[in-house]
Amino acid sequence: MIPLHPIPKTDHTCPQCQFRLEPRGWYIPGMRTLADLVCPKCGREFYGDLPAGHGLYYPMLLERATGVVHDRQGVEWFSSWLRDSYSNRIDSPIGFDSQNLLPLKRPVLLNCLDRLYGHCVLKLLNAQYYLDQHPDVDLVVLVPLFLRWMVPDGAAAIWTVDLPLSRGTEWNDWLATELNRRISAMSDCWLSVGLSHPHPGDYDIERFTRVRPFQVEKWDTPSARPTVTFIWREDRAWSSLPRQEGSHEPEESVTASPGSAQESLNEQREKVIGLAQALHDAFSQTDFAVAGLGEPEGLPAWVADLRTRQITDAVERSWCERYAKSHVVIGIHGSNMLLPSAHAGAVIELVPPKRWDNLVQDMLPTAGDVREAMYRYHFLPLAASPTTVSEIAASLLRRLPYALLNFKRPWVDHEAVGAEPWLIEARRRKTGERLAFEKDYQATLAENRELKLRLTQLQDSRSWKVTKPLRLLAEIAQGPAEAEDHAATLPGNRRLRLQLAQLHDSSSWRLTAPIRRISERVKGLRH
Ligand SMILES: [Zn+2]
Repeated sequence: MIPLHPIPKTDHTCPQCQFRLEPRGWYIPGMRTLADLVCPKCGREFYGDLPAGHGLYYPMLLERATGVVHDRQGVEWFSSWLRDSYSNRIDSPIGFDSQNLLPLKRPVLLNCLDRLYGHCVLKLLNAQYYLDQHPDVDLVVLVPLFLRWMVPDGAAAIWTVDLPLSRGTEWNDWLATELNRRISAMSDCWLSVGLSHPHPGDYDIERFTRVRPFQVEKWDTPSARPTVTFIWREDRAWSSLPRQEGSHEPEESVTASPGSAQESLNEQREKVIGLAQALHDAFSQTDFAVAGLGEPEGLPAWVADLRTRQITDAVERSWCERYAKSHVVIGIHGSNMLLPSAHAGAVIELVPPKRWDNLVQDMLPTAGDVREAMYRYHFLPLAASPTTVSEIAASLLRRLPYALLNFKRPWVDHEAVGAEPWLIEARRRKTGERLAFEKDYQATLAENRELKLRLTQLQDSRSWKVTKPLRLLAEIAQGPAEAEDHAATLPGNRRLRLQLAQLHDSSSWRLTAPIRRISERVKGLRH
C-alpha cells in the first residue's frame, strides 16, 4: 500500500521542463486514482495516475488546461480512457451506498471501479491480502454495485457505486467530491496498489463467492457423474467467422455486425451440441450444461441450459455452484473464464488468434503444483474442433486422478512414500474401482468393438442386401432423398461402401452413436 491522503507519494516528471512534479493532493473521479500535481518550474497543472491498478504498469499524465494525455509507453487503450473521460467529464449524482462496519483508524482504500468486468474482479481479489496479512489496517472497498456480492467478510467499510460497466471509465466530479469528503474526514488514508493479477497464494476464491471450489482429490467420488460446463459468451464465439476485436473494448461490442453475430452464434451452438454429443457418446452418464450470458434456447433437452440475460447475485452464485460441481469447464478466452477457472476441477480454454498476448490473464488457478497446473489447464486455438475438445475433456475425466498420483504431493513426497510405499498402488486400485465413468467409457469401447464387427460382416458381404444398410447409412449422413439416388446406381453403391469403410476405419469412440443407429436399423432388415 502507498500513502494517499493527505499528500500521496508520486513519481511524475513535467513533460515540458523535465522537473519532478509536486503532489498537492489526490483526486478520484471514478476508476482513475490520480495525484493532483503542479510543476515547480513552469506552473503547469496535471493529474497523474497513482501507482495502483494499471497505473502501476503505465501511469499516464493529464494536463489539466488542455486535456492532453502524456503516455510514455504508448498504451493507447489506457490513455484514451483517461483522455475521453476527462473531455466528457460530468458532475452528477449517482447511487452511492456507504456501509461502515468497523471504525476507520488506519484506512486503506481499494478502488475496484473499472470498465472491464475482469479488471474489477481482479482488483477486488487484492482485498484478502489486507484482511489476512495486515490486521493493523482497516480496508475500505470501493466497488461497482454488480460486484458488491463478492466483497469478502472483514472489510471495515464497503462503498458501493451504482456504476454499470458501460460507464466504467466515467470521470464524475460529483463522485470525486463525495470521496474527498469522506476521506478528508480522516487524518490520513492509504491506497492499495490494486495489483492487476494478484498471486493465487494471496486469495482464496471461497472468501469472495462463498462457494467452495471443486476438490480434485474427490474427482473419483463414486456417485459423481462426468460433469462438464460450457461457458457461453455471445460477443466472442466459438466460430470461424471473422470479427473485429479490440483487446480492451467494452466486451459487449466486439462483434462485427448483427448478421455475422447471429451466424457466429449459430456456429457456436452447433459446435457446443457436437461437443456435448461426443461426451455423451463416450460417457452415457454425462451431465453437460451451458452457462453464461445469453438467451436459453436451441439446445437439446438433455443439456442443462443455465444461460440468462438477467444477471443477479443469485444467478452469479448459482453459476459458481455449477462451476464448482464441474470436473471440466470449457470456454472462450476472456473475463468470462475467471470465476469458472477459480471453481472448476479443470479448464479447456479456446484462444482466439488476437488473444494469445493475454494468455492466463483470465485464469484464477487453484492448482498449487506446476505439473498439476499444466495438466489441469489447457489452452487451444479457437479453431480447435469439437472432436479435439471432447477428446481432451474425455481424457481429463478418465485420467486426472491417476495424474495426481504421478505429480502431486503427498504422492511424490520421499518421506511419506518411504513410510508407506504400498499406499500408491492401493490408491490407484481404489481409483479404478471408484471411477464410475471410466467403467462407462470402457463399456462404450466394448460396445463399439462389437458394433464394428457387425459392420465388417456387412461390408464383407457380397449380397445385394448390403445396398439397404448402405442406404440407411447414407440417409443418416446425407438425408433420405440423396441416399435413394445414390443407392439406385452401382457408382452410388460404391460411394456408399466407401463411406462405410471410412466409418469402420475410424478409431474414435465418437462413432459409437452413428454406428449404433445403423446397426439397430440393419438388424431389423436382416430378420
Ligand atoms: Zn514544467
